[in-house]
Amino acid sequence: MRFGRIGPNGSVVLEDRPAPVAGPDELTVRLAACGICGTDLEKLRGNYRTAGVLGHEPVGRVDAVGDRVRDFRPGDRVFVHHHVPCLACEVCRRGDTTFCPTYATTNLDPGGFAESFRVSAEHLAKGAALPLDPSVDWRAGALLEPAGCALTALRKVGVPDGASVLVLGLGPVGLLYARLARALGASWVGGTEISELRRRTAESGGIDLTVDPREAGAVHEAVARATGGRGVDLAVAASGHPSVVRTAVEEVRRGGTVNLFGLPESGSRLDADLQQLYLRGVRLVPSYATTEREIRDVQGLVVGGKLRLSDLVSHHLPLEQVAEAFRLAARPDDAVKVVVTGAAFDA
Ligand SMILES: [Zn+2]
Ligand SMILES: [Zn+2]
Repeated sequence: MRFGRIGPNGSVVLEDRPAPVAGPDELTVRLAACGICGTDLEKLRGNYRTAGVLGHEPVGRVDAVGDRVRDFRPGDRVFVHHHVPCLACEVCRRGDTTFCPTYATTNLDPGGFAESFRVSAEHLAKGAALPLDPSVDWRAGALLEPAGCALTALRKVGVPDGASVLVLGLGPVGLLYARLARALGASWVGGTEISELRRRTAESGGIDLTVDPREAGAVHEAVARATGGRGVDLAVAASGHPSVVRTAVEEVRRGGTVNLFGLPESGSRLDADLQQLYLRGVRLVPSYATTEREIRDVQGLVVGGKLRLSDLVSHHLPLEQVAEAFRLAARPDDAVKVVVTGAAFDA
């Protein structure tokens, strides 16, 4: 079978390898769709750990089922989460399962950009395979994981009813943050984004205001107007660039929260006025990845009509064009969410 892996000089290449085989407690899944994530792009740049594996937002149809697997049958539509925590270490026992040292070492074989991938016994035992509701199409399914990441973060920091939320960076995850913040009860949601296409996409999804951060003073003015000069309750740094974190700290209210989500460059430093941070009592809360519970709850919001996902997929390309799909995903002016499709996509 064919699968997409990291090639030379930040490229993605298609390679042939034997199709994975399901052990007695395992599944294999035929790919329908897998989204390209910002972290996949960072892996190509060598700016991210677990550099070997690409593709972690896959949906597809169960293909082979091991003898001892009871809950799945061939043909079932599933989403599969790539990382599972150990549930035994001290970090897991505190409930911070996405920061479990084991979590990021677990993965799908050989990754999500493959005609077929294997789901390990450990993944199945921890509920990583989620049956897709018939009303959730493949595009929406491929957005469950990134939406789960945004929901995990928003629950961690809390979105009080009537909150004002500023999302800095309206890439796919920033757009999901904006929609989820609204669904959780925020009364004002604003966003900053350089790409005009992504600003327009945000506006079609019920965001109150978008701003091009290159316009001097525009972000501050927009926030001041929306909050009576107070600052927002929550500012989300959905990009890892230090300037975004600085703006987030400046625009959040006294005692408000800055959520760090975008992956910063390795070795980058906090660029904010630490005295302001201290005197204004701003909380900095990082959130990484998601858990089975949030992914399930995101699906519930989609099924219940409280969250739209499919329309954020601007392009879908077949696995044979995975290299082109990656080039497109790296162009924010031309694409929002890019999804790579497999044989199960039209089935
Ligand atoms: Zn992702
Ligand atoms: Zn653990």
